[in-house]
Parts: sequence; C-alpha cells; structure tokens
Amino acid sequence: MADAAIKIAEAPQAEQNLTDGFHLVIDALKLNGVKTIYAVPGIPITDFLRMSQSEGLRVLSFRHEQNAGYAAAIAGFLTKKPGICVTVSAPGFLNGLTALAHATTNCYPMILISGSSEREVVDLQQGDYEEMDQLAVAKSMCKAAYRVLHAQDIGIGIARAIRSAVSGRPGGVYLDLPAKLFGQVMDAEKGKKSLVKVIDAAPAQIPAPDSIKRALDVLKSAKKPLIILGKGAAYAQADDAIRNFVEKSGVPFLPMSMAKGLLPDTHPQCAGAARSTVLKDSDVVLMIGARLNWLLSHGKGKQWGEAAKKFVQIDIEPKEMDSNVEIVAPVVGDIGSCVTAMLTAMGNSWAAPPADWTKAVTSKRDENVAKMAPKLMNNNVPMDYHGALGVLRTIIKERPETILVNEGANTLDLARGIIDIYKPRKRLDVGTWGIMGIGMGQAIAATVETGHPVLAVEGDSAFGFSGMEVETICRYKLPVCVVIFNNDGIYRGTDVNKNGDDPATTVFVKGARYDKMMEAFGGVGINATSPDELRRAVNEALDSGKPTLINAVIDPAAGSESGRIGNLNPQSALKKK
Ligand code: ADP
Ligand code: MG
Repeated sequence: MADAAIKIAEAPQAEQNLTDGFHLVIDALKLNGVKTIYAVPGIPITDFLRMSQSEGLRVLSFRHEQNAGYAAAIAGFLTKKPGICVTVSAPGFLNGLTALAHATTNCYPMILISGSSEREVVDLQQGDYEEMDQLAVAKSMCKAAYRVLHAQDIGIGIARAIRSAVSGRPGGVYLDLPAKLFGQVMDAEKGKKSLVKVIDAAPAQIPAPDSIKRALDVLKSAKKPLIILGKGAAYAQADDAIRNFVEKSGVPFLPMSMAKGLLPDTHPQCAGAARSTVLKDSDVVLMIGARLNWLLSHGKGKQWGEAAKKFVQIDIEPKEMDSNVEIVAPVVGDIGSCVTAMLTAMGNSWAAPPADWTKAVTSKRDENVAKMAPKLMNNNVPMDYHGALGVLRTIIKERPETILVNEGANTLDLARGIIDIYKPRKRLDVGTWGIMGIGMGQAIAATVETGHPVLAVEGDSAFGFSGMEVETICRYKLPVCVVIFNNDGIYRGTDVNKNGDDPATTVFVKGARYDKMMEAFGGVGINATSPDELRRAVNEALDSGKPTLINAVIDPAAGSESGRIGNLNPQSALKKK
C-alpha cells in the first residue's frame, strides 16, 4: 500500500495520469454527496482519513469505534443518507460492528467501511496482523455486505453499498476494503469513469390504491381509533403530510419515543400521557412506521386490553406485516407516498371519530398531566428525578431547536415521559435494543449533521460506555451539554454486598465528580446539587455553546431496578435473601 503511494509521489509526470484506491474511495464518496466520515484512525486507514480530510471531507476522529459507529448510525437517521463509519481491521471492525447491527435493527442507513488484512493470508489462516474474515462475520449482522478487491470496482462497490443502505427498509451495510486495495494504481481517466453516482437511491414506493381504500374503510368503521407514530415516520421526513393526515383524521395519536415532536407533545390530539388507556381501550390501531415488537408488547396481552382490536399498518417492508398479530389492512410503501395517498383518498368530508372517545382520551391525559405537575416543580436536595427533569422540560420548551439525546434506565424512562418535544427528530435515544452507550456518539453526530445544539441527558452508568468521547466533544468544540444524572450506580446507588469487602455489582464510586472529566479537556464542568443550580448551568451551556458537562447529584435511593422494564429480568427460584 505504502509502496504505490510513494511511487506516485516520486514520479511527477505519471501522477497526472494515475489515481489509486485511496483517491477512488474518496472520490466515489464525494460524488455521492458524502460530506462527513466518523472514524478511528489506525492501520490500514490512517492515510485514507488524512487524505479524506485534505480532499474536503469532514472527518470526526473518535476514541472508540463503537461511538464513531453510533454517530454514523444516527447521522443516517437524521439525514436519510448513509452515515459513514471507517475503522481498522479485526478489533476496530468488531467494535464498529455493534453499531452496524444496531443501525440495521433500528432501520438506520449506515455503511461501515473497514480496512482488512490480505485475503491470501487470511484465507489460509496464516496469522496476519489483525487477521479476520471480516466479510463472513459481518454478513449475519447487517442488511448487506460487500468486498472490493480491485481498484476499478471501487465505484460500483460504493454505489451498491449506498443503494443497499437507503433503499426499501434502511439498514446497515458492511464494505470490506483490504489494505492492498488502497495502494492499487490505475489510469486516472479510467478511474474517474469507473465511479458511479447513484441515481434515485431510495425510490418512492407507491402503495397500491386498493390497500389505501381498505385501510381507510377500517379506520372509518372505528369507534375508538388510535394512530401510533414510530421512528420510521420521523425518518421519512414527510412531516407536513403526517401532520395534515393526523389532524384531518381527528384521531388521537401516540408517538413512540423517537417519533415525539412529529406533532408537538402538547398537540390537542396527543395521547402520550394517556398511553395505557389508549392501548387498552382502542378498537382500531393505525401504525405508521412503528413495529409491534417488545416495545409495544407484540400487539397482544394485558397492555392491549380485552376488546377486540384491528391493526392497520403502514410500512415500507412487506415482511413486517403479520409479524406479531394479524394486520387487517396492510399498506406497503414509503410513508410519504402512503400518507399522501390516504390524505387524498379521505376527501373533504372525513368524519371525526366519536366525541365520547376523543373526550375520554383528553380527560385522561389532562388528569395525568395535572397529577405530574407538582412533582416536577419540587426543589428537593438531593434532587430526585422529577425535580431535575422538570427543569430540563422547561428548558426544552424554551429552546425547542435543541436536540435531546437520552439514555439510562430511570433517566431514560422518566425523561421520555416528562420532557415534551416540539419538533421532528429532536429526540434521539436508545432505540429498538434499548442499547446503552449511544450517548456521546449520537450527541456528536446530531450537532455535526444539523448545526443545532445538543442536550444529552445521561444516566451515570449509561454515560460510562462512551464517556471518553467528551474529549472528542472538546477537541471539535461542539455545542453539547451533557447532564449526568448521578445516583452513584446502576438503577440505584444503594446496593450493598453482604458477603465480602467488594462493592455491590450495581454501585459506583460514591460522590463521583464527572464534571472534572470535562475540565480535564478544557470544557466547562459544573456540579449541580439543586434544580436551581441545574437550570442555571444548562441555560449557560446552551447560551455559550461551550462543551459542558453537568454532574447532577441525584438521591442514590431514587430510581427503580431496570427502570420500567424490571419485569424482563429472569427470577431465580433459589434467590438468597
Ligand atoms: P419504533 O421503535 O418507533 O416503533 P421501529 O424502528 O420499530 O420504530 O419501526 C420503524 C418502522 O418504520 C420499520 O418497520 C421500518 O421498516 C419502517 N420505515 C422506515 N423508514 C420508512 C419509510 N421511509 N417509509 C415507510 N416505512 C419506513
Ligand atoms: Mg444511575
């Protein structure tokens, strides 16, 4: 690889006519509108990243590949273009692979490009530097996986990767680039011609007119209809069509957590604060870009109540239909086209749902909101979750452009319910897996891709998975304010090990000062012990745009085991008390 690069440098005449693997990859990415790469340098991609930077791509250099990968994944969600993550071979590749699998599970378009060792050695298992058959490993974890062996195939390889990532149901794609490829030389003119600009990478998928009629007939017949908006609806960027459709239908809507803000949580039809009631009592449920997976109890069981229910589903993936329960009216297509077709077919005389239903939903919602209100205004020291989140709720209301990144157990469950979101794609969280560690990667990509400031609300445990990236935030001077809900541990900070000197497995160093981590890298660190201090610190951070980390001291006894999903823990019959 290095050899070829040197040859080019030493032969100035030849340089005009030659290109190489490094440049072909960069040119192919640029030709397809890629502007940013999330990466960790090392063999064999260090020079590639250097050259990418000098050729005008923005390269965000991380401290761990998993965080670069989570950044690329959420960049894909936010932009509808594949987020690009570049890593070194075997260990770097594996670190990035978690994020690639996460992107695939969440239907985010992403491309993981990893350098790899030489095929001849890897395939004979002769023990190369960082030897691994990465393509074989990646295949089961993503939507598609490709390897390019020849410089003249780079253009087509990148085109395939892009189209695979964004068309149909979006997902993660792996692209394997062996070290030797980067140094391969070819005629510059031929190289240029070999590149492919992907035309209409994610073609509209128009729903069948029959399916639209069937869906509207079911919806019309409903006495207690409900619309569930999922993050697929947020991804689709069909914000006006979705809003018009929901408003024209008059149907109460329930946003999944990353669909919050498609219509504001304060919208009169929002049933977010009446979730249990609408799931239980509704008779027709229209799912738009949401799946009936564990997050919705698979569409059955106690949560869904006794009443017979009919499900209508809009999704780009035909296989999603009937995945858990019968879908009586499947609408397959892209959400923009489907919702627009529904709107047109509704005509001008669509009747609102029965008023006793919409009134019942509204009054339940108002009752729950009123019940919560005093808790959010408490000024307790040490802070509890409600006092601290009440402050952040007001701040997001006053600064609705801010992107909220959120992870943790109690910190996640409570923030999701308490903090209202007002605009589309302003809430980014742990997604389908409920994964911990997405925080700093998502925070970085969110501000890089949108230019908006980020407020990252993190449990102390969740933060630990990506905490070193605060250095990255400081290095790139990003407007990110991290608030750590520090209750000294996982779920709670009060567990005790009764059988020895070691601390209990769920507790951390008591009174830890995460704010000092930020100061170590030149950012602003604040220790906040009361809601008033927290309010002041967050407002200051968002006004200044300076990288800030606020250690919010939360009562170690606050919080419950596994947040709201403690029921998923298996129980031992032999458990010692
Ligand atoms: P949530 O967790 O919010 O319920 P999911 O990730 O489970 O969201 O579901 C998102 C769904 O949206 C997936 O089934 C995916 O196929 C679908 N989807 C993603 N993008 C589009 C699109 N542009 N048009 C239609 N459906 C989409
Ligand atoms: Mg904690």
